[in-house]
Amino acid sequence: MTHEGEGVGRADGFTLFVQGALPGERVKAKVLKVKKQYGYAKQLELLQSSPDRVDAPCPIYKQCGGCQLQHMGYDAQLRWKRQHVVDNLVRIGKLPVAGTMEQGGASSGERPAVIVHPTIGMDNPWRYRNKAQVPIGMAMASLEGGAGGGLIGGFYARGSHRIIDMDECLIQHEQNDEVVRRVKEIGKRLGITAYDEESGRGLLRHVVVRTGFISGEIMVVLVTNGRKIPHADQWIEGIREAIPGVTSIVQNINTRTTNVIFGDETRTLWGSDVIYDELDGIRFAISARSFYQVNPAQTVELYRKAVEYAGLTGSENVIDAYCGIGTISLFLARQAGQVYGVEIVPEAIEDAKRNAELNGIDNASFESGPAEVVIPRWRKEGIAADVIVVDPPRKGCDTALLETILAMKPERVVYVSCNPSTLARDLRVLEDGGYRTVEVQPVDMFPHTVHVESVALLVRKDM
Ligand code: SAH
Repeated sequence: MTHEGEGVGRADGFTLFVQGALPGERVKAKVLKVKKQYGYAKQLELLQSSPDRVDAPCPIYKQCGGCQLQHMGYDAQLRWKRQHVVDNLVRIGKLPVAGTMEQGGASSGERPAVIVHPTIGMDNPWRYRNKAQVPIGMAMASLEGGAGGGLIGGFYARGSHRIIDMDECLIQHEQNDEVVRRVKEIGKRLGITAYDEESGRGLLRHVVVRTGFISGEIMVVLVTNGRKIPHADQWIEGIREAIPGVTSIVQNINTRTTNVIFGDETRTLWGSDVIYDELDGIRFAISARSFYQVNPAQTVELYRKAVEYAGLTGSENVIDAYCGIGTISLFLARQAGQVYGVEIVPEAIEDAKRNAELNGIDNASFESGPAEVVIPRWRKEGIAADVIVVDPPRKGCDTALLETILAMKPERVVYVSCNPSTLARDLRVLEDGGYRTVEVQPVDMFPHTVHVESVALLVRKDM
């Protein structure tokens, strides 16, 4: 399978990518597109099925682009995710991984092989998401001026930007589904128009809903193409009436022609500008545009592992790079001397400061800016680090940051990653600079999708 979950097959020696086919299966497929080295084909018939194949429980799985692995049993998904990490560490990171052929280099006495643990999965891998981001469009009938139709919202059809209406998503918290349904109903009733990508006209672009799993608090964000919302008061009243748990209704204005959901301007229409939630006994305020992990149960697993890897005794100086609203920072602060968090989104840093205060944590400080600029400056100012934790976005760490880590020589580096290929690339840089990757723990944050999260522990080779 590719990292996008397509089956990789061969027909007379020619490589074909087939969506929905699993390793070990034989399928009859229709070739859709051919390039020099490979092609794409559509599965017509399953000739020989894999023991890992299951019926996808979601009725819209085939059309929707949101999940890619529902046709694969959950245990097989977890094994595939671990293997995906291993493959990247070996191929891109050139690392010896325990239990693989490439371990040969390790047994020659050079260094111990990297241990990649089995993926930590969920007992019940459904309904795990705390955030829904629903693109809004108009039903066909109303586009053509016919009767019926009106506002729809759901998902983009696989590989396209066509919006398909949806009432239920099996990986979404039920409450989020319910809120989205209600918000669409009210919008329809008030005759709110949907944004149209082609013409750039129409008002409502996205409905974003966040639910605090522990607190039960709900934030509704209306992402609009323009500032003015017709019948704004009725909207707000309608939402409050229909959704008792709502504590925050926010408007985000995005007038640009872009796939990015949020624009720069956010204003609170009603209630609080944040919702609160709790992870492992720590309370967090979360504002509309701040990053907050979408799977709270697995987030706790991930963060606990990161803290374990940090190996803290209570006196250490720790840097948390790419800290978001300070989630990992505050987990670390409970066991460290001092924690320094850095993050590029200013609102997230405001949240982080507020969160430290909220929990009576006074050994964590935060600064906003690019990690690759702020941390080198900290170094010049004389801040030392015993441990550096990084949790970058998909593109991985900036080279300048990796160089600074090498120059600061922390005893340990803990690398939290949502992309095994950039993880492997960055581990190679750290290895060449004097660190050894000891172990890697994949954690399944996004069941039924191809996303793979993991956390790696590196120690200084001269320790
Ligand atoms: N550790 C946090 C956030 C991880 S997501 C958590 O677990 O919740 C990655 C974060 O990196 C995002 O909040 C993003 O805004 C931030 N970011 C992206 N580029 C950055 C950069 N160059 N410097 C600092 N932060 C950055």
